[in-house]
Amino acid sequence: MKRAMLMCLALVMALSMLVTGCGGGSGEKKKDDAKASTEKVLRIGTNADFAPFEFQDVDGKNYEGFDMDLIRAVAKEMKYKADIQNINFDGLIPAMESGNLDVIISGMTINDERKQKVNFSDPYYKSGLTIVVKNDNKDIKTFKDLKGKRVAVQIGTTSAKEVKKIEGVEVKELNSSADTFMELKAGGVDAVVNDKPVNDTYIKTTGGKEVRALDELLTSEDYGIAISKKNPEMLKEVNAALKKLHENGEYDKIYKKWFGEQAKK
Ligand code: GLN
Repeated sequence: MKRAMLMCLALVMALSMLVTGCGGGSGEKKKDDAKASTEKVLRIGTNADFAPFEFQDVDGKNYEGFDMDLIRAVAKEMKYKADIQNINFDGLIPAMESGNLDVIISGMTINDERKQKVNFSDPYYKSGLTIVVKNDNKDIKTFKDLKGKRVAVQIGTTSAKEVKKIEGVEVKELNSSADTFMELKAGGVDAVVNDKPVNDTYIKTTGGKEVRALDELLTSEDYGIAISKKNPEMLKEVNAALKKLHENGEYDKIYKKWFGEQAKK
């Protein structure tokens, strides 16, 4: 009985040591939490369905792509912690206007309409629009041929805006570029219009078995990082970070990783 009591005591002592140990640990943790809560968080909005600029990895856990690497590098340069949020493309600017995002990076073209609502950083990528058709399509060779045709575009994009200018065109506005390709393959439309690098990446990753892109470039567009008008200081910080990344070779490194070649100067 005495022995049992002694063992019990030893157990209590061991347990209390363990608890004290944990206590020390939780002190550490509190310090970490405090550090985390004082670290500035950059709330970044993107529509992660736009490879090679932004997409989710196979597990759907990480955001990858040229824009994602670039904005992480920008945030690091600005000494912010990057918090990436995935939102529908046409919901990005409204989310910024209602104060829920600090910046948007989403292959977003700088244009006057958007400039009314957000500030844009210096341009960081040159893009433009191309057409994708089924391999067996013979009658669509240029943008003019889209007249009277059914065309899928992503809602709220420059593609949607440009295609609507074509006379007699039937525009189908869908949620993502992935949806536009699906619609084309299903025969719901005759063509798709998207940003050239996104069309090229889609064709490359799917092996070009069913669809192909036309060479003609409809527009020349500059992508910019959108920044909330509520924070004019941040515009300067983002541009300074971009400048630094150009100077220290980081931008070129990221460009090469995603496009396999040197950035065009
Ligand atoms: N560059 C196009 C635009 O800004 C498309 C962007 C996108 O779909 N992510 O409208």
